[in-house]
Amino acid sequence: MPDHLPFISIVAPCYNEAKVIDLFLNEMFDVLGRLKRDYEIIFVNDGSTDHTLDVLKEKSQQYAQVRVLNLSRNFGKEAALTAGIDFTLGEVVVPIDVDLQDPPELIIDFVAKYQEGYDVVVGKRADRSSDTMAKRLSAEVFYKMHNKISDIEIPHNVGDYRLMSRRVIDELKKLPETQRFMKGIFAWLGFKTFVLEYKREERVAGESSFNGWKLWNFALDGITSFSTAPLRVWLYVGLALALISFIYGSWIVLKTLIFGVDSPGYASLITIVLFLGGIQLMGVGILGEYIGRIYLESKNRPIYIIENEY
Ligand code: UDP
Ligand code: MG
Repeated sequence: MPDHLPFISIVAPCYNEAKVIDLFLNEMFDVLGRLKRDYEIIFVNDGSTDHTLDVLKEKSQQYAQVRVLNLSRNFGKEAALTAGIDFTLGEVVVPIDVDLQDPPELIIDFVAKYQEGYDVVVGKRADRSSDTMAKRLSAEVFYKMHNKISDIEIPHNVGDYRLMSRRVIDELKKLPETQRFMKGIFAWLGFKTFVLEYKREERVAGESSFNGWKLWNFALDGITSFSTAPLRVWLYVGLALALISFIYGSWIVLKTLIFGVDSPGYASLITIVLFLGGIQLMGVGILGEYIGRIYLESKNRPIYIIENEY
């Protein structure tokens, strides 16, 4: 523990990042040195299976400003970030990816805006050409849909890379949920925010752990964390179907009264039965998604477990 509080705390979650830590630290020291203020860099080792922890331990021995939290297993980026943020002491906090996709130079501009009086300065990815087409497209659809059905708006292409003042961090710590969709949580907090555009770089080394299925689940988390619209929509689906059935039923009764009984087709019957079965299962599935979340929250387990601190 330092004898006086640092000005800025950097939080970097690491999952199998042994190859990039050196590069990351070099750039970080360079940029933070230019600020001429005290700083701390908190690495969170999120259950890496390579030698990330050894590298981090070595760095924490070498540099007084480097602190390392070692989680007891892989808890996921959101939990790792939460752990790191909980341990920060700085007047401002900046979460950043260690793969250098978030350019560290931006921190200088973040701090300048903070000094102008903003509590939050967020980095917006103006150029996502380093991401795959599929990732960009799915992100676009996600932001559009999320913002349509949620009470809070997540600005397009804004990630976790941002500066937050101590006031914001104090409020953030009061949020007890264990299912943490950080982007949404950050947006939910509000405060005077400035958006700074930047170009998202390629990963310097190693590989992304967010692909396909994981991203889809992440998006589902995002939507179910901040909106109950997917639950409410079934009321309207049900109403619409009931109305259509009523009109169709009346038509059949009328037809029978006027033209007599006719033998109805098997095809139309089975189509309707299957269609309604499908719709009902979808409704139940979405209900299940929310009940699952209630279940997880109700267990009230800690968000992360710290095995050691270096
Ligand atoms: N990360 C983590 N735990 C995980 C997955 C990722 O702490 O389970 C970290 C990772 O080390 C990196 C950041 O989260 O610092 C972003 O991960 P990644 O680069 O894989 O995601 P992408 O940039 O492709 O969205
Ligand atoms: Mg990355």
